[in-house]
Amino acid sequence: MNKQEAMTLLKKQGYKITKRREAILIFFAKEDKYHNAKNLYEYMEAEYPGISYDTVYRNLHLYHDLGILESTELQAEKHFRMNCSDQHHHHFICSTCGKTKKVKVCPMDEVENMLSSYKILGHKFEIYGLCPICQTA
Ligand SMILES: [Zn+2]
Ligand SMILES: [Zn+2]
Ligand SMILES: [Zn+2]
Repeated sequence: MNKQEAMTLLKKQGYKITKRREAILIFFAKEDKYHNAKNLYEYMEAEYPGISYDTVYRNLHLYHDLGILESTELQAEKHFRMNCSDQHHHHFICSTCGKTKKVKVCPMDEVENMLSSYKILGHKFEIYGLCPICQTA
């Protein structure tokens, strides 16, 4: 999902596109990277001094509920990134900086054979580690 697709979705669902809501999309569209609520709040605070944490938090969860953002747990905390709605793939996620890298292999191709009598409804596969930059830091 990119910023434009997200705005179209918001409009379709009857949500008003405010400058603040757009700023949140810009923040997430910038990088293939997971961020926590605090990262987003710090960015929004710099753009809109005095904005309440509550407003930021509510919009963050709205975007997640609408499928604009996807989430994962890193260091026991929820992190968010733009939902990848393009061709099926998985992610390597840096546990330190949250950067993600696309992995085009899907282990389900193998696993399906082992579960031939089961009906599979979905799967989640993430690889965690350190990106090249964080390894040298
Ligand atoms: Zn992706
Ligand atoms: Zn990293
Ligand atoms: Zn897969």
